[in-house]
Amino acid sequence: MSAPGPLVLNTVTVRDRWTLAQCIEGCARHGIPGISPWRDKVAELGLTVAARQIRDAGLFVSGLCRGGMFPAADAAGRAAAIEENRRAIEEAQVLGAQCVVIIGGGLPPGSKDLAGARAMLHDGIAAILPEARAAGVTLALEPLHPMTCADRSVLSTLAQALDLCEEFGAGTGIALDVYHVWWDPDLPRQMARASGRIAAFHVCDWLVPTTDLVFDRGMMGDGVIDIPGIRAMAEAAGFTGPCEVELLSRRWWAEDPETVLPLIKRRHAEAC
Ligand code: ZN
Repeated sequence: MSAPGPLVLNTVTVRDRWTLAQCIEGCARHGIPGISPWRDKVAELGLTVAARQIRDAGLFVSGLCRGGMFPAADAAGRAAAIEENRRAIEEAQVLGAQCVVIIGGGLPPGSKDLAGARAMLHDGIAAILPEARAAGVTLALEPLHPMTCADRSVLSTLAQALDLCEEFGAGTGIALDVYHVWWDPDLPRQMARASGRIAAFHVCDWLVPTTDLVFDRGMMGDGVIDIPGIRAMAEAAGFTGPCEVELLSRRWWAEDPETVLPLIKRRHAEAC
């Protein structure tokens, strides 16, 4: 029987309601031991202030969201993306984050060159890997559901992410988000390959019907994903880390976090 792992609040879950300072205070008060902030919220509060407040609240930082997004229309754009990722690694180090979540980025505007965009992703990871290794920050490659391939992520499957991990080795890992991998018929076989490589485990649920491709994620237990089943696969692959709740949802953004956080705690215990 798998255990869900310590609960982490990914701050996007309450992004329309709470600042990072409110998230830090709210996690501490509601007994949520971990936090995963987004870079824009860290910038609003200030990096050193954020790091101090998180430390003072006794929270751990599972990951920093987010880096990647390397494909660009020209060399200047690709270089700018690489520099932005270097800043993300520095921020993650200051925050004591275990990883930076890396998403692929979509096709450059007007492009139909999917293989080219995937090559830019590959080269972007190669460019920032020395900084990540030096900082002790894992680049957690997060495959996103293929429905987002055009505009958000040319990194589409766990197999593709694991191929990159196997090529690059130390300093790379997987951010496994159940929302993005649950449908994959190859998931059990790929999870067997993921041994020792899972750096983050993200949860929410897939609603039927889903009304928005990005902003209609469900609360754990409200949809069709066998979250404990995927968790068990992750544990069989050696993962014992935290369970990070990441709800991009207009429905939940409309609710008061003071009611959302207790519900998350319940569903973490019952449905993860
Ligand atoms: Zn995720």
